[in-house]
Amino acid sequence: MSYIRFENIVKNFGRNEVLKNINLEIEKGQLVTLLGPSGCGKSTLLRCLAGLETVTSGRVYLDGKDITDVNPKDRDIGMVFQQYSLFPNMTVEQNVAFGMKMKKVPKEKIAAKTKEMLEIVGLGDKLKQYPAQLSGGQQQRAALARAIVTEPKVLLLDEPLSAIDALLRHSLQVEIRRIQKELDITAIFVTHDQDEAMVMSDVIHLMYKGKIDQSAKPTTLYTKPETKFAATFIGHYNVLSGERFAKICGEKIDSDDIAFRPEIIQISDKPIESENCYQMKGHISVSLPHGNILRYAVDCGGEQVDVDVLFTGTVPFETHTDVYLSVKKDQCIYL
Ligand code: ADP
Ligand code: MG
Repeated sequence: MSYIRFENIVKNFGRNEVLKNINLEIEKGQLVTLLGPSGCGKSTLLRCLAGLETVTSGRVYLDGKDITDVNPKDRDIGMVFQQYSLFPNMTVEQNVAFGMKMKKVPKEKIAAKTKEMLEIVGLGDKLKQYPAQLSGGQQQRAALARAIVTEPKVLLLDEPLSAIDALLRHSLQVEIRRIQKELDITAIFVTHDQDEAMVMSDVIHLMYKGKIDQSAKPTTLYTKPETKFAATFIGHYNVLSGERFAKICGEKIDSDDIAFRPEIIQISDKPIESENCYQMKGHISVSLPHGNILRYAVDCGGEQVDVDVLFTGTVPFETHTDVYLSVKKDQCIYL
């Protein structure tokens, strides 16, 4: 049996069915991500595991035990939230020591473990500081130390980096991953940011409207989305109905939807000679640089197709230029 198991979890808030029969298994020592748009039920699912919400029906298992009806404080779960939840009137050291104090761990051991943990999260020199004296990133490091110092069975991280600016966020992602692996922690990480999920996770569980849409390794989810939602949410696929796509490429399409990534499309102002490809014709409606990528929005008979090329400083095709597009048939995903 898996280390964590959600079995047929349903959660209603009044008439609103927020979790619709969730079945999910998580292995020990993994970091898995619940990824999905705001409101899809990620936090609610975490809270059901922590016992902060009661499930309407279904069972939750942790480490071989049915914990569905266990008191939250006896579940042995550590949590870090988006908002910095440190006690403002305690030093960093006191914050981290708090849980062990409650558990009546001997004083010397508390001091040693607190110091060790703060070294691990890179706050070895901040023991005597108060939360208000720390940056957002440092506060989240301290919150992380506080959550893992008691060695909980599972660590829950609910959008812990969402309030932190992009540059620092990336280094904290790497840092959390390092610590999780080093200490062999089982963790569930919640985010609405697909790039963050890609960087962090052993497995991504993509959620949509209270259901698990697809569970897969990051690269698999990126290259082999199985649903229209997965294709649009991850990797910015072009997704068109088979019918609409048939109209712009002039070939018969058998699937309901077809998906293809912007960077696999060839673009030229002359017809493209190529076999086993779908050919389209259109004109550039917009071009925008995204970092080192130049993204063209191409209007193909009223359908927008996004095309990415490497941005090397020049924009080869002006707005309104007529262009030809070509995409290999076997690189398309038929949904
Ligand atoms: P996410 O974390 O994915 O953004 P949530 O799990 O917080 O989503 O919320 C899922 C849905 O449940 C939302 O529609 C939200 O409004 C609703 N919801 C969450 N908590 C409560 C609550 N305590 N009472 C009523 N509705 C709630
Ligand atoms: Mg949430």
